[in-house]
This record gives sequence, C-alpha cells and structure tokens, in this order.
Amino acid sequence: MFKKILIANRGEIALRIQRACREMDIKAVMVYSEADRDAKYIKLADEAVCIGPAPSAGSYLNVPAIISAAEVTDAEAIHPGYGFLSENADFAERVERSGFQFIGPTPESIRIMGDKVSAKQAMIRAGVPCVPGSEGELPDDPAQIRRMAKTVGYPVIIKAAGGGGGRGMRVVHTEAALINAVAMTKAEAGAAFNNPAVYMEKFLQNPRHVEIQVLADKHRNAVYLGERDCSMQRRHQKILEEAPAPGINRKLIERVGERCVAACKKIGYRGAGTFEFLYEDGEFYFIEMNTRVQVEHPVTEMITGVDIVRTQIMVAAGEKLPFTQRQIEIRGHAIECRINAEDPYKFIPSPGRVTTWHPPGGPGVRVDSHVYTNYFVPPNYDSMVGKIIVHGDTREQAMARMRSALAETVVEGINTNIPLHRELMVDAKFMDGGTNIHYLEHWLEQHKR
Ligand code: ADP
Repeated sequence: MFKKILIANRGEIALRIQRACREMDIKAVMVYSEADRDAKYIKLADEAVCIGPAPSAGSYLNVPAIISAAEVTDAEAIHPGYGFLSENADFAERVERSGFQFIGPTPESIRIMGDKVSAKQAMIRAGVPCVPGSEGELPDDPAQIRRMAKTVGYPVIIKAAGGGGGRGMRVVHTEAALINAVAMTKAEAGAAFNNPAVYMEKFLQNPRHVEIQVLADKHRNAVYLGERDCSMQRRHQKILEEAPAPGINRKLIERVGERCVAACKKIGYRGAGTFEFLYEDGEFYFIEMNTRVQVEHPVTEMITGVDIVRTQIMVAAGEKLPFTQRQIEIRGHAIECRINAEDPYKFIPSPGRVTTWHPPGGPGVRVDSHVYTNYFVPPNYDSMVGKIIVHGDTREQAMARMRSALAETVVEGINTNIPLHRELMVDAKFMDGGTNIHYLEHWLEQHKR
C-alpha cells in the first residue's frame, strides 16, 4: 500500500480523501492556493504545499506546480478528486510519466470517455443501451444531416463531442432550424472545447437522470454498486441525489448494471466510474461516463457500505477488489442535499465569512464538509460548501431524517440553499418519487419570488 498520497483538490472532497488516507494509515499531502491557506483541513494535513494564487488556473489547474509538490514531498500517488484536473487525460499521463500513480483510470480510458462520440461508440460495442442518433460525428453534407434527423425523428439534440458541464448542446424541433443549429453548435464547440465535432441524438422529452456507479481493479474485476437518481437539477447542475432510484424495476437495473460491468472489462477500466443514463418509459439510454469519484458518491456508500474512496486507493495500489458482485447488497435508502453558498432562489453566489456553522447529527446522518464557524468561503471556486447525507430503512424514513437534519442545521454569515432543500423535502411530487430532470426548473418557475 502507498505510504503517502498527494491530494490535488480542495474543499470537501480534499477532506474526504484525507480522511480515507488517515484511516488507511497513509500520509496525506495537501496542496492549496493562497485563498485556502487558513482552512482547517490544510492545517490538519500531514504536509501541505502552496501551489499558487487563488485563481485555479494558477493553482489547482497548475500541473507543473502539482507535480513538483509531489516530488518534493516524496508522494507515491496523486488523487485528483472531482472537477479541476480529474478528467484531464494529459494530466494523468504527466503524473504517470513523472513516476507517480494516478488514482483513477488510465489516460487512454479518460481520453476515450472524454470524447462523447468515442465513448458512445465504445458503449454501443459493449452492448450498453444508448440514445438513438448519429452513430458518430456528423458529416458536413447538409442533405445527409437532414436525412439522419428524419430517421432519428424530431426533436433532436446536437451535442459537442468535447462538451461538458451542460454546455455545447442545442435542441432542434424542426427541419428548418436544423442546419443552422448544427453550424452554431460546431462554432461554439470549436471555441469552447477546441473540438468542433458534433453528433446528434434523439431529444428525450421527460427523462430522469439515473446513473450507475462502478468500481474496477487492474485485474479485470469490476462490480456495479447500484444506481443513483440525480434528476433534481437546475441548469444541468445536480442539487439533490438519492439511491436507489424510486420506482425502477430492479431486474432492469441489474441488466444495465451488468452491461456497465461488461463495458468496464472490455475497455480495461480501472478505478471508480459512473455511467450516466437518461431513463424514460422503462428504458435506459447512456449519455456519458464520468471517470472519477463523483460529488454524490456518499449516497451509494450509505446504501452499500462500500467506501468508494478507500477502494479507489486500494485498486490504484494494485490490490484486487475486496468484494464480488454477489457480496454487494443494497440496504435502505439514502438522500444527499448539496449545500451551496448562494441565494436559495436567485442562485447568486454568496461567498464570505461563515459566522455560525452548526451541522446536524443523529442516527443515519452524515455531513461531508470542510466548513466550520469562522471559515471564509472564497469567491474563487464552486459554490458548494458541503453535503448533508442521510440514510434510512425506507425512502420515507430517509426523507424524515433529512427534514430533521435540515431543521437542525444553522448557517449564518452567508446565504445557502438550505431553505430550498427544506421546501423540496415536503414537496408532494418529490415525496411521491420519480420526478424528471425538468421538475426543479418548473418548480422554481412556479415558486418565483
Ligand atoms: P455534460 O457532459 O455537459 O453534462 P451530458 O451529455 O451529460 O452533458 O448531458 C447533460 C444533460 O443534458 C443531461 O443530464 C440532460 O439533462 C440533457 N440531455 C443530454 N442529452 C439529452 C438527450 N438526448 N435528450 C434529452 N436531454 C438530454
């Protein structure tokens, strides 16, 4: 096992990884920007290295600074967390060429999955169900594009092969709008992602977002850890996740999970990964794979008892998965609310000094956050400051625990979206389960204030 790991991230996920290291008796090296210098999780680290100024371009995205921090501290491996460099194949390659273990899949896997066209082709070959569409990059010939759209059937969505973060997509309802939409998406994709390739998919009208968590080792063993429902989204950003997904046939989940595992084995995948699907009318449609640990991984940990971050570290060190598929058992229900430093209804970021931080507790309640009273939320990064996760024997109990946890939580000095979560936890449609990806936006529209 590694003796020392460098954590190339910040905030709650950096602390989450640090905790896994401590439990495993591995020394954790934190890197930090000038804005994070005083954070408690930096002070608690075995070692800490400043890698640059507050803007992430000079620090958390500064590859030479991160590599040299690993060199001077004699770290053996680098955990990238999520966001920042976690899905950057060039970074993974640099890490390995510099003699460190990258805690994640191979650069090749990241590269294949980072290009949505090649990812989809790999999935089709592995028998994972995909959204019908152009089975590759769109050609230049307008007549050919029109024919494809007619076959797929309107509405269609034009998506950038290199897209991410909900950007680089355009829905087209009529043939009249098609060619112009393709040209515009191509131009934007070229500018934003340095890759003008676009592809076409059928636009699903009211899907849910359901994703499958996988873990794989370097010995071609792979398992899936059930699914998560992440349909509660605003502008394609998830705000609340739960597992299992309410009301979906278990046999169907098993079939899709098994296809995901088969795909992992086929592409030699290793580490943690997530297959993201849209789910509509009893069918799953693959949209993309995330090749890293995800924000919402705790809901899966709560219902399976598997420590995903610990397992990532174990398999990176070359160990075999410590469990087989048969040993994975789903127990109860888990819900996660992302706590963002922002206005709960206008979504304006609210960085600044936290004057009171009183997190909840009690049976089945977990808080993943690096925040404490007197912590300063820097304005330079994502507004998420933590997550409240609950587990219950049933979905009803999990919701009741979340209501209780949210009622106990006191955060002062900054605005948070906790009031929004409190309202959603008593919303009749959410309580029924199975709301689709448009539900929150419609809800916000109706509850404008
Ligand atoms: P990104 O990498 O930018 O997150 P995704 O391919 O995961 O892009 O898609 C993001 C979101 O866009 C999905 O969660 C869904 O809300 C919407 N979306 C993508 N493809 C389709 C589709 N074929 N039909 C309907 N909605 C889609």
